[in-house]
Amino acid sequence: MTPLAGLIAESLRAEGPMSVHDYMALCIGHERYGYYATRDPLGPRGDFITATEVSQMFGELIGMWCADTWRRMGAPAPVRLVELGPGRGTLMADALRAAHKVAPEFRRALGVHLVETSPVLRAAQRARLAAAAPSWHAALAEVPVGPTLLVANEFFDALPIRQVERTCDGWRERMIVLAADGCGFRVTVGVPSVHGAALPTGAAADAPLGAVAEDCPAGSACAGEIGRRVAAEGGAALIIDYGYRASASGDTLQAVRHHRTTDPFANPGACDLTAHVDFAALARAAREAGARVHGPVDQGAFLMALGIDARAATLKTDAAPVVARAVDAALARLIGHEHMGTLFQVMALTHPGMAAPEGFGDGA
Ligand code: SAH
Repeated sequence: MTPLAGLIAESLRAEGPMSVHDYMALCIGHERYGYYATRDPLGPRGDFITATEVSQMFGELIGMWCADTWRRMGAPAPVRLVELGPGRGTLMADALRAAHKVAPEFRRALGVHLVETSPVLRAAQRARLAAAAPSWHAALAEVPVGPTLLVANEFFDALPIRQVERTCDGWRERMIVLAADGCGFRVTVGVPSVHGAALPTGAAADAPLGAVAEDCPAGSACAGEIGRRVAAEGGAALIIDYGYRASASGDTLQAVRHHRTTDPFANPGACDLTAHVDFAALARAAREAGARVHGPVDQGAFLMALGIDARAATLKTDAAPVVARAVDAALARLIGHEHMGTLFQVMALTHPGMAAPEGFGDGA
């Protein structure tokens, strides 16, 4: 049993059922025993790999996108370059290197702001990004005001979701209780009144018994805050994650440990818990806050529009065959349909006066 499982079992005995939302929040974010508080989960020896860690091309192209968008904003100085959930700092390091090369005036104008709660990953970011003298913040609200470029890769999938289930008494919130043998947890449904949850409406409200619907209050709040910021201060944000374009129903809570999916209710705090990102919900929140929404588009199409194939060709020039093969493999992984190319979506939120940024065609 993990230390967090012990704490959760104690709480269930003392206070009764706990919502899946609160369970997920504890598993990811408990300040002593939560998943991100205790480890660096990225890489082949960790639990999962992000596009950032697959290849330097990903962060470089995002750095170039930021430089291009900054020019379209009228090249404000200073500009805040904000990353939500920067992991090991790899994306920011690759982006800054590329920005320095293609747009030194952008590199000089920007200040780096990292929104990160994990002390372990903050240490990794400090080691990686010391030369850029970043500032760290626990939340976006702490980042000083001003024109902003923001990047969030695989951040929104790590925010806790609420789940409701259709029962014969209507929609009820999904809760966890102790399993019959007293160790381990199982899912049940709570009391009939669900407060605050965005319950399915329209056709989705007539889902069959047992159907599950999700919402992510922290995700919507964060998209709203980004929207308010870029609408008020000028700027743009790039949100990249796996998920669906239109809100859909279904249980997407997923646990990953050592690159394999596992039971989300076993080993709390020791495996990565994520859920599909509902891009339509994020777009709604950002629009309501005054921003303009572009996309989402498939990650593969986005990276192709930014010129990833040319970047790959450059990296392969004069490279040893083993290096060239690695570049090709990374490219296939980032853009291929069977890999991250279509599962991952890219959405931009901008000031309402901005035309579609690079990679989003004319569809705004
Ligand atoms: N963006 C990175 C890694 C994503 S992993 C990459 O491209 O490789 C998720 C990141 O979000 C981690 O850095 C994690 O510590 C951070 N995180 C998770 N929940 C958070 C929260 N509520 N506030 C701030 N950061 C959070």
